[in-house]
Formats: sequence, structure tokens, C-alpha cells
Amino acid sequence: MAGDPNSPSPALELLLCGTWSTAERDTWAGALRAAMPGHRLHLELPTGTPIDIAIVANPPAGALHGLPRLRLIQSLWAGVDRLLADPTLPLQVPIARMVDPAMNAAMAETALWAALSLQRGTFRYAHQQRAACWHLLPQRRADEWTVLVLGLGQMGRTAARALVRQGYRVRGWSRQPASAEDGVLLFHGDAALPRACADADVLINLLPLTAETRGLLDARRLGWLPRGAAVVNLARGAHVVDDALLRALDAGAIGHAVLDVFHTEPLPPDHPYWRHPGVTVLPHAAAQTDPRSAAAVVAANVAAVQDGRAPSHLVDRARGY
Ligand code: NAP
Repeated sequence: MAGDPNSPSPALELLLCGTWSTAERDTWAGALRAAMPGHRLHLELPTGTPIDIAIVANPPAGALHGLPRLRLIQSLWAGVDRLLADPTLPLQVPIARMVDPAMNAAMAETALWAALSLQRGTFRYAHQQRAACWHLLPQRRADEWTVLVLGLGQMGRTAARALVRQGYRVRGWSRQPASAEDGVLLFHGDAALPRACADADVLINLLPLTAETRGLLDARRLGWLPRGAAVVNLARGAHVVDDALLRALDAGAIGHAVLDVFHTEPLPPDHPYWRHPGVTVLPHAAAQTDPRSAAAVVAANVAAVQDGRAPSHLVDRARGY
């Protein structure tokens, strides 16, 4: 009965839209349909049926333009820098990004793996093995090893906690003063970055890509790290000025780089990172969105829209994250 508060809310029309293989799309469609059996999920824009919510993963530019009933854009990815770069994105429609504890945990594992591998010399031992070189490196304890985490958001904070549990000296850097975190020495704002970098053995980047953070890891700021420090970039390739990092690696100013993200992905076969002895390359694998847990996150936001509640994890377009 129309207007009856006890009558069930009508099913919503959902559009799944991304840049991906058919197999990847079908995996997502299966997980989303299982999590939201009461709604209709379209894989193509239907004619004559207005879309309520677009569920997106790097949608082609213009794909969300001209949808008159659109009430939410739900990203399947945590980073929304590419989405926000589309000038045709409807201005009045809220955007929610993917925040999934399973993804945060995966990122924390990658950050911890990188810190442990650097502290224990694993990358250098792998290099030595290729040269049949038996050479013992000095051993440093975890509590003698300082890890700086840039960005204390969903991923950065989870990673910082894992690093504290492992016994490292942990520093964290954010834009605004962050709420206290046991075992993490906090810094915020541009002016504090040189001090945050000053004693870091490892810098782990977990910042969102915004106008302020693009190119942040340039020659000047890499120079704030102690000689031989390592850089771990798990966030976005455009945070790093590649030429500056390569020069710092060649000069020994940076001892090693673990890079999961790049300006161009896949990393072109002729890129110097592939063969540089001081670089470990990962194929954007630090924390993949898992459809099994992420579909439940999407379903919760779809239910919020259906019930007239505010969706979670909305993006502040002015800040860019
Ligand atoms: P998030 O929750 O939005 O984290 C934002 C954090 O960065 C906040 O602490 C924020 O400070 C800080 N920040 C933003 N701008 C800053 C600035 N100009 N100066 C200093 N601090 C700044 O992001 P997230 O979900 O943790 O994601 C982190 C990164 O991981 C993103 O780049 C995302 O794209 C990337 N990612 C990578 C993978 C992968 O597989 N490699 C997977 C998922 C995500 P305030 O607290 O003061 O606002």
C-alpha cells in the first residue's frame, strides 16, 4: 500500500559498470546478486528503466552522465582518484568508496611483509643468491627499526597497528591531527613531514592520490629520509616522481624500493623498475578487493539508500578522498 510505513521498500535498479574482463565482471555480478537478491542488477544500461545506484570499478568516462534518478555512486575500489577525474560525473550524486576490513587486513599484511623483508635483508639475500654470494648482513632488532606510515586512513591505521604489534618503532603522518594510536608517534601537516622522515628506516606510502599528494615523493622529500632508507609505495604510482626515485636508488640515497603501483599499469616491459637491483615490483597486488566481503559492504549501502539513511564512507569531493 503506497505510503504505508510497514510496506516493504521497492526494489532498486542497480547498474554494474567498470573497465574489466567479462570474467571479472561476472564474478562481481554473482557476488552482488547473492548479497542483494531483492534488487535488480543490470550489466548494461537498460532502456526505459532509470538507474538508482551505480556500482562502479573505473567506469569509462561519461558512463554515469545523464542518469536522472541516480542516488548513489558506489565504488568497488578504495581509491577514487580515477573516478573523480571524470569531468562528466554528476555533481549532486554522493560517491561512496569501498571500505572493507578484509581489504585493510590484506594491506596490513603487505605492509608488514615489506617491513620484515627490509629489516631482515630478504631482498638483498635474494639478490646475493642470484650471484651465488654467501654474505651475512648485520642483524637489527625490530625495536631498532623505524617505520613511517604516510596516511592514517583505513589502510594506514591498520598497517600501523600491525607494525606496532611486530615491535617496530612506528610513526604516522596525516593531514589533520589524528586520534591517538597506541605505539604510534603522530605527525600531521606539511611542515611536520621532514621531522617524520628524519629517522625512518622505511617509509610506507598509504596516502590517497589528490592534488596535494600527487608527486609528493620527489627528490626534495626523498632527501629528508636518512641515507639508505627504503621506500614502499602501496598507494598510487603518481605519488612518486619516478626519475627522482631512480636517481636516489642509483646514488644509494634510497636503499631499496618496494613498488606495487605505477604511473602506467601494467608497468611497461621496458620500464627501468623491472630490472633495477634495488627495486621489488608487485603487480598492484597489495590489497585486492575481494568480491565475497565487498559485496556485503555494497549491500549495506544499498540498504541505506533504500531506507532513506545516509550511506557510509562518502567521499569528500573537495578534499579528493
Ligand atoms: P583513506 O582512508 O582515505 O586515507 C586517508 C589518509 O591520508 C588520512 O589519514 C588522511 O589524513 C591522509 N591524507 C590525505 N591527504 C593528505 C595530505 N595532503 N597530507 C597528509 N596526509 C594526508 O585511504 P585508504 O582507504 O587508507 O587508502 C590508502 C591508499 O591505498 C589510497 O591511495 C588507495 O588508492 C590505495 N590502495 C591501494 C591498493 C593496492 O592494492 N595497492 C588497494 C586499495 C587501496 P586525515 O586523516 O587528516 O584526513
